[in-house]
Amino acid sequence: MRRLRNIKIVATLGPASNGYDMIRALFRNGADVFRLNMSHGTHEEIALRHANIRKIEEDTGRPIAILADLQGPKLRVGTFENGEEELSDGQMFRLDLEDVPGDKTRVCLPHSEIFQALEPGTTVLVNDGKIRLRVNECGDDFANCEVIAGGTISNRKGVNVPDVVLPLAALSDKDRTDLEFVAELGVDWIALSFVQRPEDMIEARDLVKGRAAVLAKIEKPAAVKAFDDILEVSDGIMVARGDLGVELPVQAVPPIQKRLIRKCRAAAKPVIVATQMLESMIDSPMPTRAEVSDVANAIYEGADAVMLSAESAAGRFPIEAVQTMHNVALEVESDATYRTVIEASRGAEKKTVADGIVSAAREIAETAEIKAIACFSQSGTTVSLVARERPRVPIIAMAATVTTARRLCLTWGAHCVKTDEMGRFKEAVVRAVRAATHEGFATREDDIVVTAGVPFNVPGTTNILRVAPCDERKIYSAEPE
Ligand code: ATP
Ligand code: MG
Ligand code: MG
Repeated sequence: MRRLRNIKIVATLGPASNGYDMIRALFRNGADVFRLNMSHGTHEEIALRHANIRKIEEDTGRPIAILADLQGPKLRVGTFENGEEELSDGQMFRLDLEDVPGDKTRVCLPHSEIFQALEPGTTVLVNDGKIRLRVNECGDDFANCEVIAGGTISNRKGVNVPDVVLPLAALSDKDRTDLEFVAELGVDWIALSFVQRPEDMIEARDLVKGRAAVLAKIEKPAAVKAFDDILEVSDGIMVARGDLGVELPVQAVPPIQKRLIRKCRAAAKPVIVATQMLESMIDSPMPTRAEVSDVANAIYEGADAVMLSAESAAGRFPIEAVQTMHNVALEVESDATYRTVIEASRGAEKKTVADGIVSAAREIAETAEIKAIACFSQSGTTVSLVARERPRVPIIAMAATVTTARRLCLTWGAHCVKTDEMGRFKEAVVRAVRAATHEGFATREDDIVVTAGVPFNVPGTTNILRVAPCDERKIYSAEPE
């Protein structure tokens, strides 16, 4: 099964997208990566979703990435007796430390440190800033607030206090427990929320111990400032616009998004644009024009992936939301302006043999109407370099391990195929042309470009580029050992 677009789609799973059939439908309609948000749902629910995804992988024969998103030191309200309540402008609403379900007048905010930092007049934001409260009166274990901008408040919604600096550790006890749980379960990516310094990522990386790739969610002003150093120690990035747009003035988000995408592409590391991409589709089968533009822009900017949050986790139209992203991608990627923009921004500095080979691979493929670039990769690095070129022709990522194949599901354009260990280059060429013809990238009359590193099984040694005929008989007569 091949996708006819390059940008990847990440879909968050939740109550609206439970069960094998629903997840499989999301996958069939275009989701390449599934996000499990550790802020919501129990370990049992997470394990069940994980098992369903792995079963779909087995049944479809296609690798699928699972991204576990750690809550991080995010402040959240507790739960409500009725699951949710409507807050109206002007009413009073109390935040406290009492561990009992909330109602229309109060809810628990289980973070004692925050009450010490509040003062009368402080603004408290709930649900990515949609609800605005102003503290009138507060003490060590409560804050009586006036609702300045009301709305629906529901279980475990996030809370921001942008004017106050809170002393928070990078990983809470819950994060450590969750991290160990998902790493043992076997996820492909682990995302860390509210990263502020490169040390936060290094700490997470030490705990993950190579069991997953690590991704930094950029949602704090400090992370934007220290971005270059954070990128250096991360395998991927998420532009987490929900909290970013609350922690910083909302108009600061678009330029930051553009800058981060450009830097990630130069570093050949995948970047996800996330939050509110198709927000109105939580309740409506039809997106707004502005939302469609937002998805389109992220694609024009060269992101590796766009993400659905509540749209697929808790909305009424998860499948339609995935289809919308897919259709926008087809349209944008076939637009001549898209190619112009993407090619003009191919600015990465080239230093290594691998840089040269991937750029030559693209050049040859585009010049000679070659149908695909097949790229053998141990760790996935070479595939990321090919993807950075943003070639016009498809990239077949021949991954040496299923782990690499799954991780690459987040990378722009990579059609991942798990391949077995190989001894000789000729064997690799045969595998590549079989993958290309079986999966509909080329016919027997076509040629493909193959890149690899010989000897095999040594990461980071891309040193061969070959134009190979897809007719296997010709390979056997023409290919050197
Ligand atoms: P984050 O800051 O990590 O994005 P979030 O609260 O914004 O956290 P999302 O994953 O973006 O969570 O999903 C948006 C909303 O969808 C959540 O606030 C929640 O109401 C709902 N949701 C998502 N996943 C689940 C889940 N597993 N169970 C229940 N509700 C969920
Ligand atoms: Mg967030
Ligand atoms: Mg969110």
